[in-house]
Amino acid sequence: MEENQTQKFDVIVVGAGPAGVAAAVSAARGGARVLLVERSSFAGTKNMIGGAVFLSALKQIFPNAWEQAPVERYINKHTWSLLSDNSSVDISCDFPQNPKSASIFRSKFDSWLVEKAKEEGVYFAPSTLVKKLIKKNGCFCGVETELERIEADIIILADGVNSLLARKYGLRYDYEAKDTVLSIKETIKLSKEIIEERFNIEKGSKNGAARNFLGGLKLENAPFALGFLYTYTDSISLGLGVNLEDLSRYGLNPSDLLEKLKEHPVVKPLIQDGQMLEYSAHLIPEGGYKKLPKLCENGIMLAGDAAGFVNAIHFEGTNFAFISGKLAGETALAAIKIKDYSKKTLKLYEKKLKQSFVLKDLKSYQNVMRNLYSRTNSLMNYYPKAASKFFKIFSGASCIPKRDEFREFIVDFVKGRSIRELLKDAWAFIISIFGVLK
Ligand SMILES: Cc1cc2nc3c(=O)[nH]c(=O)nc-3n(C[C@H](O)[C@H](O)[C@H](O)COP(=O)(O)OP(=O)(O)OC[C@H]3O[C@@H](n4cnc5c(N)ncnc54)[C@H](O)[C@@H]3O)c2cc1C
Repeated sequence: MEENQTQKFDVIVVGAGPAGVAAAVSAARGGARVLLVERSSFAGTKNMIGGAVFLSALKQIFPNAWEQAPVERYINKHTWSLLSDNSSVDISCDFPQNPKSASIFRSKFDSWLVEKAKEEGVYFAPSTLVKKLIKKNGCFCGVETELERIEADIIILADGVNSLLARKYGLRYDYEAKDTVLSIKETIKLSKEIIEERFNIEKGSKNGAARNFLGGLKLENAPFALGFLYTYTDSISLGLGVNLEDLSRYGLNPSDLLEKLKEHPVVKPLIQDGQMLEYSAHLIPEGGYKKLPKLCENGIMLAGDAAGFVNAIHFEGTNFAFISGKLAGETALAAIKIKDYSKKTLKLYEKKLKQSFVLKDLKSYQNVMRNLYSRTNSLMNYYPKAASKFFKIFSGASCIPKRDEFREFIVDFVKGRSIRELLKDAWAFIISIFGVLK
């Protein structure tokens, strides 16, 4: 586009992640002229995932093309591990015929999403940083980049967790440290054969495995940190997410925590002889339902991470991004049809979000992370160690009567934790479950 030229679109979408692409294609499918603006030279270079995309959401955006997406492996095995200092108690599930998610590289995947959007008529402007929004008569109606002003009837902000634009225009507050997780990740090269062997994956298949880790950091005051591992075709990712407030409270360095995880006797053999290919870090919004931004104003809507749509307990973010983007795109179409871009019309977006899993889940999970954070020491240290002791007795023969061993276990269990603390743990657990189900 030429300098100083003012262009006009029906919809401008800022940010070409899952939320932005879903918003752009949904609006373009209904005949709108849509511009998708991305600051990177190609989509995905600035983005990060653990990680796997959820196929149910991808299928909703690209029902006919999702199978062509550049996925690394279909995640059909998932293991949750409670790590004590030297051992692990695992719960695993295996869905050989029906994987729910697929591991991806964002640079390949997001670029593919954009190509699909372009095929559906979306105009894509890479290497274009939106610096300001244009507002006339109280209504957002365009963007300003380094080179030009571009006008539109509707703006959809899908510019990710930091969303400087939403903050600049008072649509969102600055996230507090307690509502933000810093996630760091290493991508580690391993041969395909080693990955298949170590993660019990059928040879030559596109199946894959994921693991989550709780505990095992060998710190008396461990922060609440969730570790993750995903298999790609010939590499794996290993990382963890830790609350920013905990990092500063305990004076911790996230890379030290990742080193501790890598040194854990259960994790170490999984990455043995691997070669680090990439180190990355990114923020995840965790404010949830209680910290929702203004989801729409005159001429504008917020989608995906920009709106804080993440369910950290289940590592869900891309599905919230895809579906909120889709709903924003559909709302834009409805507004264009009646030529009314006011907040009153765009409130339809909020209504659609409320009817979908996006706001239903955020609402029912609104207290879960806080409840868990309040029991950090129990979850990071006490229960993983207790579980390890229990299963050592349960699964091992030590020539001591089982009755004596279990009695000793119970005495230690109760001694190590006051009744008050046990009740607090139980209460946090019960009200979390109740909150989700009510
Ligand atoms: C370590 C980690 C692991 C994760 N694991 C998972 C997982 O396993 N499964 C899952 O579903 N989710 C996972 N998530 C969450 C998921 O990655 C996000 O929820 C999702 O990417 C949000 O999509 P989005 O489109 O809203 O934002 P993003 O993907 O962040 O895209 C925002 C885009 O906006 C662009 N942009 C920003 N500002 C501007 C501007 N001013 N002008 C132009 N462009 C701009 C950026 O360059 C970027 O491309 C993980 C996140 C992290 C950090």
